Amino acid sequence: MDSLELNAFVISETDYKDSHKIFTLFTDTHGVLSTVGYGAKSFKNKSSKIGIMVNAFFILKKKKKNNEISFIDEVKIIKDYRSLKYSIIWESVPFFKFLKVIDFETEEENRFIYIMLEKLFDSCKNDLEIFRVFSVSFILKTLTYLKIIYIGKCSKCGQPVDIPFIDIYGDIKCSKCKSGSDISIDEKSYFDIHKMIYSKFEEIGLKSDEIDYFLIDKIIKPKIGKSINEFRQKNPFGD
Ligand SMILES: [Zn+2]
Repeated sequence: MDSLELNAFVISETDYKDSHKIFTLFTDTHGVLSTVGYGAKSFKNKSSKIGIMVNAFFILKKKKKNNEISFIDEVKIIKDYRSLKYSIIWESVPFFKFLKVIDFETEEENRFIYIMLEKLFDSCKNDLEIFRVFSVSFILKTLTYLKIIYIGKCSKCGQPVDIPFIDIYGDIKCSKCKSGSDISIDEKSYFDIHKMIYSKFEEIGLKSDEIDYFLIDKIIKPKIGKSINEFRQKNPFGD
């Protein structure tokens, strides 16, 4: 590809040499990629208008053939989420790291998660507490959609789970299929996780301190090698 047109969220940015920046984009078609914004530190440059939390349309080009990294040729802001509360932006930084650990097999999968990310920011109503619940829900919804975790059905027999148990691989089992070392899960926590995955964002109705992060860790850590806490941040600003 010599030229690439796509929509993307800017999920991180770093300075590059004196006057440029490297932006990491979560795109609607090409997963996560990095691109150079030449002259992005000069206010006259188009790339200076963008930054983390901006959703934009991009035309990316490559300088030479075989050159791995592209540069921004055109950029047009679609929606600027920098108008959200600073505390939400602050907590989005570790949350965006999650997007870097997932791989998409198809463009359809990529687009689905991209649209869900837009929904997450649009429906959090600029409320930090709601954002916290939705961002954890987003992680669980994504892993379920990508068939990395299964919640609701027994991973062994495929039947609806009566009393939930979990094994060391993070797989959920029913009471018939559990083996000796599997441990039972608190039903309220299991029900809440089910709700966070299968309800629409605005219908979840949980508070962040009601979420069983310990159980979520037991489910996701064996699958993606990372703890849920790596995608959350203790907020020094309160609120
Ligand atoms: Zn079973």
